[in-house]
Amino acid sequence: MQNGGDVPDFQIIEPATGSVLTSVPELAAEDVDRAVQSAARTFRGEWRRINTRDRARIMLRLSQLIRDHAEELAQLESRNVGKPIRDSRDEVALAANCFEYYAGTTNKIGGQTIPVAAPGVLMSFREPVGVCGIIVPWNFPIAITSWKTAPALAMGNTVVLKPAEQTPLTAMRLAELAREAGMPEGVFTVVTGAGSAAGNALVRHPLVRKIAFTGSTEVGMNVMRLAAEDIKRVSLELGGKSANVIFDDCDFDRAVASAVSSSLGNAGQDCCARSRIFVQQSLFDRFSSALVGAFAKVKVGEPLAEETEMGPLVTAAHRGRVMTYIEQGRDQGATLACGGEATGHAYLSPVVFLDVKPEMSIMREEIFGPVVTAMPFRDEAEAIALANDSTYGLSGSIWTRDAGRAMRVARAIETGNISINSGSSVHLEGPFGGVKRSGIGRELGLQALDSYTEWKSVYLDVT
Ligand code: NAD
Repeated sequence: MQNGGDVPDFQIIEPATGSVLTSVPELAAEDVDRAVQSAARTFRGEWRRINTRDRARIMLRLSQLIRDHAEELAQLESRNVGKPIRDSRDEVALAANCFEYYAGTTNKIGGQTIPVAAPGVLMSFREPVGVCGIIVPWNFPIAITSWKTAPALAMGNTVVLKPAEQTPLTAMRLAELAREAGMPEGVFTVVTGAGSAAGNALVRHPLVRKIAFTGSTEVGMNVMRLAAEDIKRVSLELGGKSANVIFDDCDFDRAVASAVSSSLGNAGQDCCARSRIFVQQSLFDRFSSALVGAFAKVKVGEPLAEETEMGPLVTAAHRGRVMTYIEQGRDQGATLACGGEATGHAYLSPVVFLDVKPEMSIMREEIFGPVVTAMPFRDEAEAIALANDSTYGLSGSIWTRDAGRAMRVARAIETGNISINSGSSVHLEGPFGGVKRSGIGRELGLQALDSYTEWKSVYLDVT
């Protein structure tokens, strides 16, 4: 959304170089109000009148336009976020797949006729909620934008989306492509600006009936408090501090490779990062030395270079926060086995901490950077207790060839998502979300549709 002309611009900085990439309007409450009013009009008007098959066609066209512009979007994301181009391409593909998947749901989600004791027929309908306010973070901008926006639009809602102030570019481009695909004005609007201004105004707006938020636990708590003021629906995808539990019968090479990729993907700026690594005592020395060796070999470099495995952190300020944790780890007695060198504008070499204790801040708090802790455990019971010793519960992995043990541990770990012999967390077709301080509600899969629909009961008396 463009501002009226007097609004200051916000500079977008390229993390790889520190230079200004572009600037976007820093919108205020009045601008957000205009966007929400327009979304409310379109919700009641034009978007309602488009039948479910045509709505699906528009979403499929958007999916195709994302594919047609895949390289452009991936380059934009890599330059804006600093992530390796190969990762950006995967995320753009996920966005296209996401609109395609949810396009298929527009005419498959219905209500029921329910046998009741009264002399009549009770029918239930799934209705859209209304204007959905969507707030997303800077780590996976186009992916998270899509996995919230697509189910909301498929169910007939309209969306006003606030991207993170640092990384709005792919969301803005997506909104342009949505118009090109045939979405009327007001169906999908992007409002750029600060969380404390544009974000806050979106959460408070009385015409916004639902807030879908992804970001830090601290801001999520504020969003929930504010939304309570007029009983807005809220779904929250928040922080994580996930466990990677490695038993001594694992496939060693795969477990080491995954311990690297599942903690250093997106330079560790991943809510699902398996940043607490627990290894069975008998394997610990061999595993930790392989891990340190593999961390030292990770190719840290320019986001647009094809061979780069890890780019810079999102801002120099964020690198500063991560380095504070590294200092705390050392001060509290952990051994820095590798990494921790800051270079360029926002680069940081990946860190393994050994000799850690569960009470250390590096074991308890989400660092959101390329830093892991590795610690031994004796047996299954201790592994479960260590994994559960966290206020978070978002993701995690278990590595073992014993299927019974894998299932026992998977069921016992308090988390929303866990993988066995894999480091992947997100599958478009299934529910994703957290327990404890990692959030409320589920994104993705058919489950996401619950949070973008209301049940309405209609009773018809037949006497
Ligand atoms: P953040 O909480 O600082 O910001 C997230 C979004 O909220 C941004 O768009 C920001 O502008 C907005 N915001 C900030 N203050 C606000 C306010 N008062 N009212 C309304 N909106 C406000 O988070 P971040 O630093 O951008 O992202 C990192 C965090 O996101 C990490 O904690 C990470 O774990 C979490 N995250 C979670 C998931 C998940 O699915 N669980 C996925 C990605 C990231």
